[in-house]
Amino acid sequence: MPDATATAAVCVACGGALDTVLEPVFDTRFGIDAAFAIARCRGCNLEQTVPRPAAEALQAYYAAHYNFGGESGTAYTGLRARLFRSRAYRLWLALDGDISFHSRRGHGRLLDIGCNEGRGLALYAHRGFSAVEGLETNPVAAATARARGFTVHDTSLAEFRPNLPYDVAVLSNVLEHALDPNELLRQVHRILKPGGEVWISCPNAASWQRTLFGRWWINWHVPFHIVHFTDATLSRALAAGGFETVERRQATPALWIAHSTIAALTARRGRPTAALRKPLPVMALMMLSRGLLFPVLWLADRLGRGDCLLRVARRAG
Ligand SMILES: [Zn+2]
Repeated sequence: MPDATATAAVCVACGGALDTVLEPVFDTRFGIDAAFAIARCRGCNLEQTVPRPAAEALQAYYAAHYNFGGESGTAYTGLRARLFRSRAYRLWLALDGDISFHSRRGHGRLLDIGCNEGRGLALYAHRGFSAVEGLETNPVAAATARARGFTVHDTSLAEFRPNLPYDVAVLSNVLEHALDPNELLRQVHRILKPGGEVWISCPNAASWQRTLFGRWWINWHVPFHIVHFTDATLSRALAAGGFETVERRQATPALWIAHSTIAALTARRGRPTAALRKPLPVMALMMLSRGLLFPVLWLADRLGRGDCLLRVARRAG
């Protein structure tokens, strides 16, 4: 008798049949005690997490493990805040890869979708825009961003009806979280001006870290990452959403290598991976990988095997 979960699992993008390519895969960050698999669509090649959590289940996972809860004053947040304020940060971005478009300049109105507590907004505000706004459904994070002086809308993108369209929408490590990424891109298209741009970053499921770390690759991030894009499958999603690519690059953040390494060495199913939140081992691994692997990372990014896809696409029509 066929397994009900397996028969229900069809491609989130095209409804095609799925083949399992990696199992089991489990949460290597928070200790969620559940097994998932990675499956690839026979029709469009898009890789995705199966079983795909229902919207309510996913919401419960976010509420329990993920959402910004106002954490402040810890060694981790203190270090992070100092890093973001420093002049060295922009130099680091140039070296390591600017995966959240923090140093990219633009003009007009920017919307940071999934802006969290507004760390990105604080940087976009100094990059030439006339207005920077955020969209964030977590009320604690939205309130924190507002307290920093930003306009933050707390509706879902589907329900969001801005007074004026935007010139730029940022999806920094957001699209892979969407239960329906094609629908998310259609909504982004709706809120942009004609010719407006979407700036996307997301993990690259064709990276060499995916191959090296296998099930321990930090960017499977099940069950929160619903889809796992490659350059080709991201291009297909953008074309379906009415976007044409303007720029494409790849980057391999040292932080992601450090996190994958820590997960591979210490993560156990059902147990939070405490070392991911310890600044010293994380920083040491970052410096080590950035320093020793510099030529490898540089080359891999240019050969299509970097860990992060970066894309600027323009609303066509
Ligand atoms: Zn498909």
